[in-house]
Amino acid sequence: MDKTIFQKIIDREIPATIEYEDEEVIVIEDIAPKAPVHLLIIPKKFIASVIDLEESDGNLMGKLILTARKVAAQRGLSGYKLLFNVGKDGGQIVPHLHLHLLGGGRVELDRT
Ligand code: AMP
Repeated sequence: MDKTIFQKIIDREIPATIEYEDEEVIVIEDIAPKAPVHLLIIPKKFIASVIDLEESDGNLMGKLILTARKVAAQRGLSGYKLLFNVGKDGGQIVPHLHLHLLGGGRVELDRT
């Protein structure tokens, strides 16, 4: 399978604005922000989607949310939204699991 755009960012093959990184996750700025602050929390382990999670991925999923909380606090956000698009029919375009963090202003979700 071809590498996803996020795998290429993790492997430093294409550039991104990196907000945070450790051995398990990387946080980047979304290239087409839908809110004043729009970050993507991405596990380095390849998992295509929430649909593909296994029971053993529970700690990693917790890590994504705790990382979102950490970077939101670093940005001084008092409130924000956390969102997974799940599968093509759920609006997921990049098939590498990622958590959207949207904040910095009132964020309305697309209800269409
Ligand atoms: P999703 O629809 O949940 O798969 O979201 C994918 C997100 O990745 C979108 O919000 C895109 O704007 C964002 N995106 C796509 N390519 C890049 C990139 N090279 N760097 C940062 N964000 C990207």
